[in-house]
Amino acid sequence: MTRPFRVAVIGSGPSGMYATDALVSQEDIPVSVDIIDRLPTPFGLVRYGVAPDHLSIRSVRDTLDKVLDHPGVRFLGNVEVGRDVSLVQLREFYDAVVLTYGASRDRGLGIPGEELAGSIAATDFVNWYTGHPDTSPDAFSDFLASSTSVAVIGVGNVAVDVTRVLSKAPDEIEHTDMPEHVFAALRASGIHDVHLVGRRGPAQATWTTKELRELGELAQTQVLVAEGGEVDDVASVRAVAEDKAVARNVAVVEGWSGHVDDGRERSIHLHFRCRPVEILGKDRVEGLVVETTTLDDEGQASGTGQTHVIAVDGVIRSVGYRGTALEGVPFDDRRNVIPNREGRVLDGDTPLPGVYVAGWIKRGPTGIIGTNKKDAVQTVACLLEDAADLAAWTAVQPETMAVDAALGDRVVVGTSGWRSIDAAERALGASRGRDRTTLHDRAVLLEAAGD
Ligand code: NAP
Repeated sequence: MTRPFRVAVIGSGPSGMYATDALVSQEDIPVSVDIIDRLPTPFGLVRYGVAPDHLSIRSVRDTLDKVLDHPGVRFLGNVEVGRDVSLVQLREFYDAVVLTYGASRDRGLGIPGEELAGSIAATDFVNWYTGHPDTSPDAFSDFLASSTSVAVIGVGNVAVDVTRVLSKAPDEIEHTDMPEHVFAALRASGIHDVHLVGRRGPAQATWTTKELRELGELAQTQVLVAEGGEVDDVASVRAVAEDKAVARNVAVVEGWSGHVDDGRERSIHLHFRCRPVEILGKDRVEGLVVETTTLDDEGQASGTGQTHVIAVDGVIRSVGYRGTALEGVPFDDRRNVIPNREGRVLDGDTPLPGVYVAGWIKRGPTGIIGTNKKDAVQTVACLLEDAADLAAWTAVQPETMAVDAALGDRVVVGTSGWRSIDAAERALGASRGRDRTTLHDRAVLLEAAGD
């Protein structure tokens, strides 16, 4: 073997970085990795998903960043697979390709009124407040300025993040790396009531206790349980008894259930057992119709036929992320993942040689950042097991850096370009008394990468 085994990792979020780390830190086979990302910056959801005020979770990027220092690792940012280079080409240039491009689309509710002005997806809102280059700076200025009371549909951690960002006073958030236009729009926000709406009970919510508790720790905001918070059905009682995490979540909600409105400036209202059935409004959102639900013995919700209106002028759906297909790779349209066995991509029942998958596009949008490490390690173990059999291993050596030639004059941000962006963001932040300020504009990012 005269050259290292060559791997392309598509996507530089946690699963891509953990897969790369697992590949270059083993010693059985010399491996080189090109990490390809459509954005000019690495780290995916750690940069554009984790809430900016969750500083300790965001600091995981320092760990991920170290992977880029490995001499066998290159970062090729601002390169989109399917547009700048095809998967077919990558399979010629590399011995193996690991798809770790995540699940970035929002899921819809499929109810009337969803398309009204003032009805938005949490995924877009999160992209905006984290400074994602695909989101216009003024995308949510009108939404924030013209809404007073919004419903956040879904009771997972993204819903909690969005609720917290909307409910914090400006001085509770302005130490973060959010772009300046985001602070300005949040300062001008008219929203004082946020209604968190779950279609099942507190025992079935998917948020985690630490994140949930934070809602009760905001300086100017009270948490009120509006409806459906009781835990008296068979499934919920059993879940509390059997699962400590569920019991902790339920205890937090119960702790709030006695709260009465103390007249504070901002309120978070928890609504459980409420299934959204329609968003009302002529030109923009004027209310959310929900149907009261009951839970069966398995904790699944069914409608009672009784409906009522939650008075809101904005709706944010936070009902999960959705993976999308990549040309040339099988896709499971029902689960929105790439079919695989332990990370080996399957075409029917047969593994597609040299193509692997890790992270959310492998298993769906679940788990915390650390979940992706175990997941990526499993995929890499399969890849290394197959390495000797992969045709390219013994085939004609691919031309060194063939991908670079294929990219032609595309502006590619390498590791040093990313380091320049990083330095520019730190310098901008320092000029405002912060650790960092995110650069959101793609042209500005590319310019900073060239400095
Ligand atoms: P999630 O945890 O799957 O929550 C989705 C929520 O949407 C659930 O409450 C679900 O209710 C609800 N839902 C789905 N379809 C619905 C419908 N048609 N009508 C009403 N409600 C509906 O997803 P997520 O909040 O997007 O988070 C994704 C992943 O990222 C999770 O693993 C999460 O823990 C993680 N994350 C972690 C953090 C953190 O650790 N701080 C922060 C953000 C995200 P049902 O259960 O009834 O389906």
